[in-house]
Amino acid sequence: MSIVQVGDPILRRTARELSRKEVLSAEIQDLIAQMRETMRAAPGVGLAAPQIGLLLRIAVIEDLTEYHKDIPPERLAELARSPVPFHAIINPKIVLTGEPIEFFEGCLSMAGFSAIVTRSSAVRVECWNAQAEPVSIEASGWYARILQHEIDHLNGTLYIDRMKSRSLSTIDNLIRHWKMKPINQVKAELELG
Ligand code: ZN
Repeated sequence: MSIVQVGDPILRRTARELSRKEVLSAEIQDLIAQMRETMRAAPGVGLAAPQIGLLLRIAVIEDLTEYHKDIPPERLAELARSPVPFHAIINPKIVLTGEPIEFFEGCLSMAGFSAIVTRSSAVRVECWNAQAEPVSIEASGWYARILQHEIDHLNGTLYIDRMKSRSLSTIDNLIRHWKMKPINQVKAELELG
């Protein structure tokens, strides 16, 4: 499946909830499998249904150890980033339970760019899993950021709505100038408050 890029109006619309019967249907089970393959092919750590052109309240998330291999341990520790097994979230409700925290993030629908976005360091998400069973997720660190980013997509919100615009960077420049530095040093160099 191809990933919709910024400027497509579907990324600005609100996705609709699914019924239990829909979630358990062959169509939605197949969709979740296709979303998993699309996310892995990108590769990315999250993908929401509007990003493949469907206004449904479904997102898939997976953060694999292999994605961390080029990130120094001190940066992983600062991001509080650890592996997250594949799962789907359906009809999620989110409560921000942490402190505001700033890091660069990117989006598969804003290919080639990254910016600093303030997010809550922890969240609680009530949703259904791929079997339409209710689940409660308590997340912190990078996983909490992924959840906030993906649930924003279901409401027509993109990270560019929340970013520190002075920090907007191509991925090449992120790697060249910013990615390896502590976030407080980045913020000082960019003169961010
Ligand atoms: Zn995104």
